[in-house]
Amino acid sequence: MSTVLVLAELTPSGVRPATLELLTAARALGEPAAVVVGPVADDVRAALAEHGATTVYAVDAPDADRYLALPKAQALVDLAGQTSPAAILITSGTEGKDVAAKVAVRLDAGIITDAVAVASDGGTVTATQAVVAGSQHATSEFTRTPAVITMRPNATSAEAAPAAGEVQQMSVSTADAAQGGEITARTEKAASGRPELTDAAVVVAGGRGVGSEDGFGVIEQLADALGGAVGATRAVTDLSWASHDLQVGQTGKTVAPNLYVAAGVSGAIQHRAGMQSSKTIVAINKDPKAPIFAISDFGVVGDLHQVLPALIDQVKSRRG
Ligand code: FAD
Repeated sequence: MSTVLVLAELTPSGVRPATLELLTAARALGEPAAVVVGPVADDVRAALAEHGATTVYAVDAPDADRYLALPKAQALVDLAGQTSPAAILITSGTEGKDVAAKVAVRLDAGIITDAVAVASDGGTVTATQAVVAGSQHATSEFTRTPAVITMRPNATSAEAAPAAGEVQQMSVSTADAAQGGEITARTEKAASGRPELTDAAVVVAGGRGVGSEDGFGVIEQLADALGGAVGATRAVTDLSWASHDLQVGQTGKTVAPNLYVAAGVSGAIQHRAGMQSSKTIVAINKDPKAPIFAISDFGVVGDLHQVLPALIDQVKSRRG
């Protein structure tokens, strides 16, 4: 069976959930092998093996954290030379797409970004993307291999399928990484205590209907009551009522949580493009004709400043 290389991403608490989703998706294409740039802790190896990694490549790339995408891209290119993989899977995101593009160019391979599904008939790999602002799906066939694919977080669920997870050490030269961007300073992001927007199982998003920056506070309160992340429309981020990194949509982030609560959001096509793959959508809007209701599983017609405080009370009392 062909190897499928999966670029693993780590967080301070272990393996990023999106990596476990990639390992799950990779099993449809061949035998998953995880690629970790940096040391592999025991709990990281265990999580990768639990989700199907037959091999875990621990890549020693000196000073890799000083550079942007190149050391990771070089590791994948070197490993592709050794393992002739059917596909290389990377999580969609700014860095993931940067890595994927560099890998595809160096391998003269086909590339598809922002896939929501992958498949193989044993020979040909296909990847499906949500297109036309998420209203259609397009499935494309790779004619040049390996198939380099970035997949959106939450496009599939992570499922366990224990495998050996045998660790193999390898090293990559960072000499030519210096030709790429070098990181000269880092500023730590203020910790919100909330989950990462693109990884969260619950997202509560506020639109212009919140009325003001202070009015946006009720969105944060509901997110905290539900243990979710906060999202916003572009109207809200343009007004500086919420930070730009919370913007969901065509020119913001793409999310697909189990629960998406949209309050005071009209449901413009550019916003829907970033959230309409959510499993359950709940909308609160005072206009019964708001387009968001057309894609909602549950809707409340009403003033969000009355509905959300009542909802927060209910959530808190039920969660004890
Ligand atoms: P509005 O459209 O003004 O809607 C506010 C809603 O709140 C209304 O439906 C209203 O009935 C309701 N409301 C008002 N008061 C209350 C209340 N008290 N209680 C309950 N409901 C209330 N937008 C994005 O979100 N993400 C993007 O990535 C994005 N990219 C774009 C890219 C391009 C190229 C362009 C042209 C536009 C883009 N937009 C994007 C903007 C998009 O077209 C919309 O303008 C925007 O999504 C509207 O935001 P909104 O729903 O918050 O505001």
